[in-house]
Amino acid sequence: AAFALALFPIIEPFLEISQGASEWPVYQQSIERVNALSNDQPKKVPQSALKGPVTEINVDHVTFSYPDDDRLILKNVSLKIKQGEKIALLGPSGAGKSTLLKLLLGDQTPTKGTVTINGTPINELQQKRAQLFGVLDQQPYLFNTTVMNNVRLGNLQATDEQVKTAIEAVELKPLIDSLPDGYETEVQESGTRFSGGERQRLSLARILLQDAPIIILDEPTVSLDPITERHLLDTVFKVLHDKTIIWVTHHLAGVDHVDQVRFLENGVFDLQGTPQALYRDEPRFRKLYALDAGRND
Ligand code: ADP
Ligand code: MG
Repeated sequence: AAFALALFPIIEPFLEISQGASEWPVYQQSIERVNALSNDQPKKVPQSALKGPVTEINVDHVTFSYPDDDRLILKNVSLKIKQGEKIALLGPSGAGKSTLLKLLLGDQTPTKGTVTINGTPINELQQKRAQLFGVLDQQPYLFNTTVMNNVRLGNLQATDEQVKTAIEAVELKPLIDSLPDGYETEVQESGTRFSGGERQRLSLARILLQDAPIIILDEPTVSLDPITERHLLDTVFKVLHDKTIIWVTHHLAGVDHVDQVRFLENGVFDLQGTPQALYRDEPRFRKLYALDAGRND
């Protein structure tokens, strides 16, 4: 969330001045500048490069308070995520889910404990954020430019063919082909040409091109109807099947896609396990599950 949010106010003025298709080079320059800004946050600690692929993310006995605030938001929380594993983080509003994501992204540093990738604290890694994390959150971040340009933001080196392949993977090809301007159709940043689900699919195509090993999902379906939600989650878990996924969600729709579920409440994990084991052993989980099944009918 923070990545896209940080990007947005900086990128927007550049886009305003580069509406014409002929001005694409100006636009591209702006994006490159913005990427450089947003990925190179000042780091005050020695940096080391991650060698080889991400094999494990480890949240190790993490306690966290926001600066100048005594409240403990996370209390001695531990979580290990292996390469390719998919985890759902559930919990009521205010439980600390987004805070945990900020710690994972390195936007906040634990008060106690560590968050590491392959054993190295996140804020000591030389890798740029976009090389490690793809983020899909509640709001798709789309810009006043073409479909092609919006998706290519995931990887500015991608060819037209690669952009089209990503768009096909997220099942938007029939729609885009049906539009008079096709891939050159202008996306309105806050317009209605594309529905909420379609806008999230455009974001997902961008993430596919970005090809980072770790995917952070912060309630990407929160503003969608149940059917659209289900279809989007099916696509997300299909196209990102080889990625490590950490998914914050407030309800259980689509939870069968994950390997592990963690319930965060008052800063601690109080229920955890596979969705199957929780369904079998935890009446509270069964009740929530039934509620969501009803919602989807
Ligand atoms: P969730 O995502 O589970 O709804 P959050 O992680 O957003 O929960 O928030 C957990 C708690 O931390 C809340 O009480 C919230 O008010 C507080 N909080 C969130 N961001 C900040 C901040 N920047 N400074 C101080 N408190 C914050
Ligand atoms: Mg949140």
